[in-house]
Amino acid sequence: MTDDPMRFAHSLIPNPNIPPDYNILANAISNCSGPVVHQMLKQNPDLVNLKAWHGQTALHRACLGGNSDIVGLLLQAGSNPNEPNDFDETPLHYAAKRGNLQVFQMLVQFGGDATLTDKNGKGMIHHSAETGTVYMLHYLWEVQQLSLSDPDAKHLTPLHIVCKHGQVDSLKYLLKKGRCNLYATDCEGNTAVHMAVQEGHSYMTWLLLEVMGTKVLNVTNNEGYTPGDLATMRDKTGHRELVPLLKQFRRAPTAHPRGPVLKWYFYLLLPAAAFAVSVLVSKLAGDKYQGVVVFGGLGALLFHLRDQMHRFTDISRWPNPVHAGTFAAGLFHTAFYFFVAIMPYMTQHLYIMCLTPMYAVGLVYLYWTVLFNDPGSVSQSEVDEKTLKPLTIVDLCLPGKKLEQFCIFCEIVRPPRTKHCRLCNKCFRDMDHHCLFLLQCIAQKNHLRFLWFIALNIIAMVIFLAISTSHLFEIYPKLTIFEVGMTLFHSNAWHLSLMGLNMASIFWGVNLLLFQFRMVGNGFTTFYQPKQNVDVLTSMEKCMNVVYFLLGRRPFARNPFLGKEMNV
Ligand SMILES: [Zn+2]
Ligand SMILES: [Zn+2]
Repeated sequence: MTDDPMRFAHSLIPNPNIPPDYNILANAISNCSGPVVHQMLKQNPDLVNLKAWHGQTALHRACLGGNSDIVGLLLQAGSNPNEPNDFDETPLHYAAKRGNLQVFQMLVQFGGDATLTDKNGKGMIHHSAETGTVYMLHYLWEVQQLSLSDPDAKHLTPLHIVCKHGQVDSLKYLLKKGRCNLYATDCEGNTAVHMAVQEGHSYMTWLLLEVMGTKVLNVTNNEGYTPGDLATMRDKTGHRELVPLLKQFRRAPTAHPRGPVLKWYFYLLLPAAAFAVSVLVSKLAGDKYQGVVVFGGLGALLFHLRDQMHRFTDISRWPNPVHAGTFAAGLFHTAFYFFVAIMPYMTQHLYIMCLTPMYAVGLVYLYWTVLFNDPGSVSQSEVDEKTLKPLTIVDLCLPGKKLEQFCIFCEIVRPPRTKHCRLCNKCFRDMDHHCLFLLQCIAQKNHLRFLWFIALNIIAMVIFLAISTSHLFEIYPKLTIFEVGMTLFHSNAWHLSLMGLNMASIFWGVNLLLFQFRMVGNGFTTFYQPKQNVDVLTSMEKCMNVVYFLLGRRPFARNPFLGKEMNV
C-alpha cells in the first residue's frame, strides 16, 4: 500500500503472469472507466476473485482509486470486501487509509468486516489515523463502535500515529470525550508527547499538554529520553520553539497549562495604551514636537499591526485580539476626546449636549450586543424531513450527499449555509464572515445588528468631524484650513490625529457598508456568494431587499441563484 512506495509502484505495473483481461480491467479501474469495468466483468466474471501483485484483487485497486461507482460494480459482481492481500490487508483497510468513507460504508453494507487487522496488527483505526481523516475515525468510533485506543503490533495507538504524522484535526478529535488512552506507550516506551516532540509538531504538543498536564514531560522512553531531551536532539523550527517551553514546564510543572492570558490582554489593550502614551509624551514634548510624537507613535503602531496575524505565532496559536483592540481604541479615544475636550465648549448648543450622549450610549449598547450576543451558533445536527430524526454521518454516505456537511469539530451534520469558524470554534448559520475587528463571527443572528452598527458608526464619525470642524473654526476664525491643521499639528496633535483616523475610517466604513448592501440586496452573504457575477434582480428589488433586511423582515424579492452559491 502507499506506506511502501515500491509495493505501490509494483501494483501499477502489469503482471505478465496474469491474464490480459485482468490488465484491461485494472487499467479501466485506474482510469475510472465504469462501462469498461462493467463489460470486462460481464465477459469474464472470474476476474473479481483474481489476485494480482501482492495478492491484491480488483476491489483492492478500486478502493485505492476511491471511485465509488467502480467499487459498487465490483461488489455487485461478487467481489469479497474481506479478501486479504499478502499482508492481510482487505479492501476496507485500503478505503480506511484512503479516507474514503462513502466507499468504506459501501464495503460494510456488502459484508465488510471493520474489525479485521493486517499482519502488522493495524486495524481500520490505525490506517485512517495515518491519513488523519476525522470522518473515518468518527464513523469507526460512533457507528462501528471500535475502540480508538487499541494498539497495533508495535503498540502504536491512533494517538501515537496522528502525532507522528502531524494530523492536528484528528488529534483534536481523539482528545475529546476520553476517546483514547492518553498515556499509552509504544514498544519503544514513547508516549504521544514523545512522538509529537520528536517530529517537531509544537502546536500538537501544546494541545496534548493542555489535556495531560506537564507531568508527562518527566516520562522517559526505553532509551531514557524525556520529550524535552528529544526536542534538544533536533533543530527544526518546531523543535526550537519547543525547547524553551519544555524547559520552563520542567522547572514549574502544572496540571493545566494555561494559554497566554496576559499576552492576550496586552495585545487587546496595546493600541489604546500606545496611542494614549504617545499623546501624553507629546504633551510633555512641548508645542513644537507634538505632531511628530503623536504621528510617529501612530505610525509605529500601524507598522507593528501590519505584521500581526489573526492568531498569535506562539505555541498556543490563540486568536490575536490586536485588531479588535485597534478598533476599540479608535472608538473610545474619539469618544473620550469628544466628551472631555469638545463638549465643555458646546454648552450653548443644547441639542448637541442632549443628543450626543444618548447617541453614544446607544452605540456602545449596540457594540456590546454585537460583541457578546450569539451570532447564530448551531450545535445540533440537521433533522431529516421525513423521519424527523437528527442526521448522522451514515446519512452523508448516501449517493448525492456531501461528507463535508459533517463538521469534524462540532461533530454535527450542518444545516445548509452553516460554516464552522476555527477562531470561534463553533458552527454558524448563514455565515457572513469572522470579523477580526469585533473578534466575533457575523452570521444569521447578528448580521442585521452588524450593519446597523457600521452605519451608526459612520454617522458618529461624521458628527465628530462636523462638530470638531465647526468648533475649530470658532476658535480660529481667521485661519485657513491648512493653518488650522498646522496649528493643531503643533499644539493639539491628538485632535488632529483623531480627525485623520475618523476620516479614513469613514471611507473604509462606507466601502464595507456598500459591499454588504450589495450582498444583502442580492440575498447573499460574504461567504455564501455566487462564483460569478450574477445580477438578476432589478435595482428596485435590491434596494427593497436592503430596506427589508434593515427592518428585520424577510427579503422583498428572492434571488433565483440562492442555494447555488460558493461553499453551499
Ligand atoms: Zn462546527
Ligand atoms: Zn468566528
